Amino acid sequence: MPRDTDLLKSVFGFDAFRPGQAEIVEAVTAGENTLAIMPTGGGKSLCFQLPALIRDGVTVVISPLIALMRDQVRALKAVGVEAGALTSGNTDDETDAVFAAIAEGRLKLLYMAPERLASGGTLNLLKRAGTTLIAVDEAHCVSQWGHDFRPDYLRIGALRRALDVPLAAFTATADAETRDEITEKLFDGTAPRTFLRGFDRPNIHLAFAVKDSPRSQILNFAAARKGQSGIVYSATRAKTETLARALEDAGHTATHYHAGMEAEARREVERRFQQQDGLIVVATVAFGMGIDKPDIRWVAHADLPKSIEAYYQEIGRAGRDGAPADTLTLFGPDDIRLRRSQIDEGLAPEDRRTADHGRLNALLGLAEAQGCRRQALLRYFGEDAAPCGNCDTCDTPPEVFDATIDVMKALSAALRTGESFGAGHLIDVLTGTQTDKIRDRGHDKLPTWGVGQDMPRRQWQAVFRQIMGLDFLRPDPARHGALRVTEKAHPVLRGEDPVTLRRDSIARAKSRPVVRALVADEDAPLLSALKAKRRALAEAQRVPAYVVFNDRTLIE
Ligand code: ADP
Ligand code: MG
Ligand code: ZN
Repeated sequence: MPRDTDLLKSVFGFDAFRPGQAEIVEAVTAGENTLAIMPTGGGKSLCFQLPALIRDGVTVVISPLIALMRDQVRALKAVGVEAGALTSGNTDDETDAVFAAIAEGRLKLLYMAPERLASGGTLNLLKRAGTTLIAVDEAHCVSQWGHDFRPDYLRIGALRRALDVPLAAFTATADAETRDEITEKLFDGTAPRTFLRGFDRPNIHLAFAVKDSPRSQILNFAAARKGQSGIVYSATRAKTETLARALEDAGHTATHYHAGMEAEARREVERRFQQQDGLIVVATVAFGMGIDKPDIRWVAHADLPKSIEAYYQEIGRAGRDGAPADTLTLFGPDDIRLRRSQIDEGLAPEDRRTADHGRLNALLGLAEAQGCRRQALLRYFGEDAAPCGNCDTCDTPPEVFDATIDVMKALSAALRTGESFGAGHLIDVLTGTQTDKIRDRGHDKLPTWGVGQDMPRRQWQAVFRQIMGLDFLRPDPARHGALRVTEKAHPVLRGEDPVTLRRDSIARAKSRPVVRALVADEDAPLLSALKAKRRALAEAQRVPAYVVFNDRTLIE
């Protein structure tokens, strides 16, 4: 049986579970009767789709809207899952295909509207199909007092009794009356295992910082928490080892962990972390799945995670005991380039790459949030919240300034050059920097040529980072990450919407050397040339640099 996290990635293309999903998937897969309450957009579908793939037999999904069913079936088929719907909107061919899949024992998910349960043949069909699980989406439709009442939902209880299989109910409606009614109507009054947990982990302090001197930033963070158990996540295996050594040199008890280690050595680190107080583990994301330590006091990211889901899962390992816990996530332009090139050079199909860029943008937006960071985080998961008072942007609200003109300049540089270039070239245009590419394309003849000379290159980089975080510019994976202007930016371009940016990251960009990433292709001999260039950069210009090669960051 495949592990659910493997399927999460291989079938659905997600890096991590969203808050709450893992526990629900586990219970549903184990065949428990469950009721899961999650906000809209929280990711409920996955909580029955993934168990359906792992379990034997067919999962029947009762859903109230034909359009919703068709969307889900289309999305599942697109990733190779055998799913079908029996709805009044079906063509004969579609219905025949569903029956054929049932007859051949291939079907995994069968969607149907509750009305279908009224017809006598349905029960026999579901028995014949080998139904082993009933999933009820929008389960509040069973409530007679709610505004979405669907009388046919009342037939589901009888279906469950007749099939004698577990039932998993999902809704975004959280009030107690609705819950009681669901218990009574769908589960005959025996309370199912209920998952009602807001996504918020209010005891975890949230903070991001621009990466300027990553090693000392992590060392300072750890020094302020000496003797406490903590995890440092790092993007590369090599760095877990060097950072762990640096922490030890600074007097901490620290060790490293990554998937390249022998299984026995890994188990030993897990065991030590569980038992020993105050151990720091510097690890890649391979660490943590099986870790169930309630008193992890802090989690730091030495490199930017892949997505908000991954970020939240990783920091969520801190403070399970409910006592205050601290987190710090470092991010810089080198991280963004690394993540982008990992996405673009991966083997994933194009639409999945686009989705991955979108998820990275969402994380960048969170990294440079202007208001309460927790509010922004919870909004991403569909949950509303008041400003929290326990995050860095609540502690010290970032100073923002009206950057409408700068943003308009950046967007128009992208448009004038046919939305065919990355930030580097657009900054050349804005700052009036002559390069071969500029000359070859005649970009020094453009009206936007040199209009951004009032700001140095590094500040423009910070502007582009924030604009991408705001999702005004989005890299097109089909065109080597060329930046395209999004719909969202149109009112800005028309001068209708003002834009504010965070002053701190722009101001800091002025005073700090930028990190250079040199991206190589498959050509192995290039590697030594790149390493030499990196050394030259570091020595001659005192610019910290590293080499990205075949998806791996190599730091000398
Ligand atoms: P709900 O039914 O709770 O309103 P959906 O199941 O429709 O939410 O999911 C909302 C969105 O979240 C979808 O676009 C889905 O692809 C995405 N999503 C779900 N789970 C994850 C995850 N673990 N990582 C990233 N995206 C996810
Ligand atoms: Mg839904
Ligand atoms: Zn806050």
